[in-house]
Amino acid sequence: MRIQSGNKILKLLVDKRIAILAISGIALYFAISQYHISLWYIVLAGILLGFIFGKVFCRWLCPMGLIMEILMSMNADGKIKQMYQYHKLGCPIAWVSGWLNKFSFFRIKLNTDSCLNCGACDKKCYIVAMEPAKYSLYKPKTEKPGDSYTCSKCLECVAVCPNGSLTYKV
Ligand code: SF4
Ligand code: SF4
Repeated sequence: MRIQSGNKILKLLVDKRIAILAISGIALYFAISQYHISLWYIVLAGILLGFIFGKVFCRWLCPMGLIMEILMSMNADGKIKQMYQYHKLGCPIAWVSGWLNKFSFFRIKLNTDSCLNCGACDKKCYIVAMEPAKYSLYKPKTEKPGDSYTCSKCLECVAVCPNGSLTYKV
């Protein structure tokens, strides 16, 4: 029951991710430009978040991330968008928090007992789309994309899972 209500909240957040990114990205931009908050504080906060949640900063909070998402949604076809998401190098926050994806407190977990092997999660993931032989969220003997550097915690894989077999939790 707790997992189900947790997943409902997560689905809602994933649905509203662009709005959340827009609000926090613009707020952060104003904080930096109007109130002269040092970029070092932002970098440190982004890295601290990385310890807790993995690489969440780029897709949930970053002003540049917001600009890139808007540009990508206007101009890019699916393939270019996947390539951008997969190959982008980002900034120091992305470098460190991407590496922390393997060690963060919150991680994407699979319950193999309840998994239906439907493949819906893999279809949502740009990492699996780029390297389907190497990565899968549910297939055995593959690497888990949620642990890879390039996972920006869009959490669409978790949101699409029909029965809560994929969770994002401590
Ligand atoms: S959160 Fe899930 S769907 Fe998004 S990039 Fe990471 S593994 Fe793929
Ligand atoms: S979407 Fe959920 S049930 Fe379907 S394969 Fe992925 S983890 Fe298993």
